[in-house]
Amino acid sequence: MCKQFRQFSLHHLSQVLTRNGCFSEYLNRFGKTESDCCALCWAAPDGAEHAVFQCDAFHQWRPKPAST
Ligand SMILES: [Zn+2]
Repeated sequence: MCKQFRQFSLHHLSQVLTRNGCFSEYLNRFGKTESDCCALCWAAPDGAEHAVFQCDAFHQWRPKPAST
């Protein structure tokens, strides 16, 4: 794993784990965005849980359920 990729991954992982990052829910709390809606799918609130588990924009990176 190259150093640049590892830094990129740790940066985003820390945002998800702390819930403090480029999420509209977080930014809106401090007046940095006009709404707490996701800029990609317009769902609200756009928090870490939305980005990891729900947002349609990231579905291709989620593991698929095992088939039986
Ligand atoms: Zn979304």
